[in-house]
Amino acid sequence: MTAQIIDGKAVAATLRQHIAARTAALGFRPGLRVVRVGEDPASGVYVRNKDRAAKEVGFDSATIALPASTTEDALLAEVARLNADPAVDGILVQLPLPPQIRADRVIAAVAPEKDVDGFHPLNAGRLASGQPGLVPCTPKGVMHLLRAAGAALPGARAVVLGRSNIVGRPMAQLLLAADCTVTVVHSRTRDLPAECRRAEILVAAVGRAEMVRGDWVAEGATVIDVGINRLADGRLMGDVAYAEVAAHCGAITPVPGGVGPMTIACLLENTLDAALARRG
Ligand code: NAP
Repeated sequence: MTAQIIDGKAVAATLRQHIAARTAALGFRPGLRVVRVGEDPASGVYVRNKDRAAKEVGFDSATIALPASTTEDALLAEVARLNADPAVDGILVQLPLPPQIRADRVIAAVAPEKDVDGFHPLNAGRLASGQPGLVPCTPKGVMHLLRAAGAALPGARAVVLGRSNIVGRPMAQLLLAADCTVTVVHSRTRDLPAECRRAEILVAAVGRAEMVRGDWVAEGATVIDVGINRLADGRLMGDVAYAEVAAHCGAITPVPGGVGPMTIACLLENTLDAALARRG
């Protein structure tokens, strides 16, 4: 079997064009503010990419760079200022934060209607209870990819490897909302390979390079690799042993060029949705 390669770059480019066209038809520019605390180099790259992508689709985007010594109170004051600013539709505080700042307090301080990361407990609760709200960008991007690949979702056996608040848990909720039969597996699961082999749709979000081997994946399954692992030699590698799995699965995302490009595209989609919801 030759696996279909799910091209995240192409799906993301189409989504971004669609967002740019919708933005051009508005009488205003959706406002996005990305807050960065400290000098973490990886965060710097992510923040620059988000800002550039937002400007490309016509948003009013700006980055607020604060020193690594910023106190929790000072960051909360900045978030409160952005919450109150009518020109701001979306607020994203780039993680990780320096150790003196409690991320959960900052996440809970962002106004839920401006929470374009979808991490606020109110938005997490809305997702868990099947109500509309802002949804975390990476799992939202995975749903776009599954639909673009033509995956038959209702009734499908989906296995999510990982249960973080950023990827695994919201991923499971979105698959459930799409009528999949969902299993979540994690570090305390007894027989990971056996659980994964049952999947018609397998989403790996574990942060361990090439952990999912060829014999963990059923013939014909659709495999989405969320993992981004940087090896000592600088190469990026997913959570899935690509060559082994692609030899017999039905469809698979590459790393890079799979889920990664979708995360930023979905941040733009969330910002546009937040702007439309706030401004009627
Ligand atoms: P995380 O918070 O570290 O969560 C990892 C999850 O994997 C946890 O639920 C953990 O289980 C589970 N796990 C870890 N080791 C395991 C093992 N040996 N066996 C079984 N389960 C294990 O990571 P995350 O934020 O969800 O990110 C996961 C991966 O996705 C990372 O590589 C990250 O870089 C990548 N990522 C990519 C994007 C993107 O845009 N493409 C966005 C976000 C994250 P326990 O809960 O039991 O500890």
